[in-house]
Amino acid sequence: MPDTVADLRRELAHAYRIVANEGILDAFGHISVRHPGNPQRYFLSRSRAPGLVEPADIMEYDLDSNPIVPPTTRPYSERVIHGEIFKARPDVNAVCHHHAPAIMPFAISGVPLQPVFHLGAAMGPYAPFWDSRDEFGDTNLLVVKPEEGASLARALGKHSVVVMRRHGATIVGGDLRELVFRTIYSAKNAEHQLAAHMLGHVSPLTEGEAVMAGGLNLAPGPVSRAFEYWVRRLAEREGRGKSDSAVRAAEAAARRPNPGAAPAVKASGAKTSGAANKAKKSRGKKR
Ligand SMILES: [Zn+2]
Repeated sequence: MPDTVADLRRELAHAYRIVANEGILDAFGHISVRHPGNPQRYFLSRSRAPGLVEPADIMEYDLDSNPIVPPTTRPYSERVIHGEIFKARPDVNAVCHHHAPAIMPFAISGVPLQPVFHLGAAMGPYAPFWDSRDEFGDTNLLVVKPEEGASLARALGKHSVVVMRRHGATIVGGDLRELVFRTIYSAKNAEHQLAAHMLGHVSPLTEGEAVMAGGLNLAPGPVSRAFEYWVRRLAEREGRGKSDSAVRAAEAAARRPNPGAAPAVKASGAKTSGAANKAKKSRGKKR
């Protein structure tokens, strides 16, 4: 959890550029995060290509997707996707909407996206479809009216991914890091599912496997390991070195025995903390 709104703006802008660098977002698509101190508000960039988003681009909205400060720049027209999902899902604190090449064959054909390998289980056991035609007939395909966003949120239901017919997908997460992991690995899952389909029979994970593997993937250990990799790749792409503060922080987090806990307490003589105990217990389970 970031300490300040300034940290949160930095983390969100970084998330935009990571997901863009992994080929999911291009000129379009967006990521939001709920305000940690006020659940009735959220943050989203101004209308800008995700790979270029900086902390100063991040704007604050209420859940009706009205900007809190009168904007001096253009907001994303599809921001109701975020506001309406945050309204409908109190457990969701981060949302990504995209049109990734990997997902589009599923959005176009109507073939269901299914978890087909262990890391793909981060998408959850099932991804429903939403078709704007069902309730709204002919539209320009953009989700810009609150009722369209609410309809999309209903189709998402309790799930983590909703595939939007002839448009793209929207992914949700309990926090920004979970969202980034799920967004990247659900797109990889789509690539593998399509490739396997071309070879013949596709045998997806069972619901039980998807739940178990999904839980394991989204544990702090694997998420921190993946983040160290993505943060470093982005830093290299942006011409920042190993000494960059984001790279060093991601590296240090991934090195901790229990990346979800506070930095390790000194062992000798000190009373062992609850977090350190948990780390010991879970160490055998982590990869
Ligand atoms: Zn869109």
